[in-house]
Amino acid sequence: MWQVVGQTRVISLLQRSLQEGALAHAYLVVGPHHVGKMTLALNLAQALNCEAAEPPCSECASCQKIISVGHADIQIIGLTTEGNSNTAKPQAEIGIEQIRQIQHSASLPPFEGSYRVFIIDGAECLSNEAANCLLKTLEEPAGNVVFILLTINDKLLPATVVSRCQRLELLPLAATEIEAVLQSRWGIESEKAKLLARLSRGCLGWALSVIHDDDLLQQRTERLEKLLDITTGDIEERFAYAAHLVDQFGRRRGSVHEVLDLWREWWRDLLLVKVGNSNTITNVDFADRLSDWARDFSLLQIRDFIDSIQTAGEQLRQNANPRLVLEVLMLDMPRKKEIVSIAHG
Ligand SMILES: [Zn+2]
Repeated sequence: MWQVVGQTRVISLLQRSLQEGALAHAYLVVGPHHVGKMTLALNLAQALNCEAAEPPCSECASCQKIISVGHADIQIIGLTTEGNSNTAKPQAEIGIEQIRQIQHSASLPPFEGSYRVFIIDGAECLSNEAANCLLKTLEEPAGNVVFILLTINDKLLPATVVSRCQRLELLPLAATEIEAVLQSRWGIESEKAKLLARLSRGCLGWALSVIHDDDLLQQRTERLEKLLDITTGDIEERFAYAAHLVDQFGRRRGSVHEVLDLWREWWRDLLLVKVGNSNTITNVDFADRLSDWARDFSLLQIRDFIDSIQTAGEQLRQNANPRLVLEVLMLDMPRKKEIVSIAHG
């Protein structure tokens, strides 16, 4: 049984190749974060080494070892995870030494299974040297060795490497598909499954990572509440929040991009409500407030501000001054009308 949810085109292609013994020596799995690239890679490694009649069975000793990352012939390399200590700098590139190591292993026959499988997670982070080194191995493939490169964007990889791999693209799933599988396979109750499915942007892995981490959902709610707060607030409140974001940006850039993504989604939801498409909103748990807010902004205001959020994100990625970018964004944010008091004049 393939553990990957959806992705039927890719799975049937792999299954056919397995049956016909026509596997590629290298695959490039392309898709957004949490869409299931690693699950697919491990599944393929299982299928190549499975002892059952219909691989991958997920149950034989080999399949079990692979899923618990304890199989001697399966090696995963990538960037070391960031943030386990304040002193350790997160690794920025996959270096040539890591590739030399797997090259050495690739030259040896499989130790306990039928195939050696090398999974390179975050292949877009290969240094130039590392990519060139890998290219040599890909150009002279050994038998019983399969490379699986995972990337969010194959345009960031050298064309020479890409051309040596068979490309497998994983597409985000439909929200209804995620909602259904969360309920049937993971036993999530229907309301939470619906919310997680919408928030996941089609990436099941994200929803699964949140199931056991209520802090993440809590953080999202707090960030949204803050957005609602400053949209009614004055310029001092907005600039104070901009300063807070600048401070966060200095410590972890990703967190500010997460906030901007959340904002873009909120304003996109407002747009959807405004044009009568409330059933496709992401923030389903804020549906009432969205329809209330939609009355207070014009389509033009909403569209303009979505553009401003987009621009701010791009400028931050291009290393513009974060303080300037975020303050301009605060100025661009349309102001929600205060609740009109009954006593006029
Ligand atoms: Zn098996």
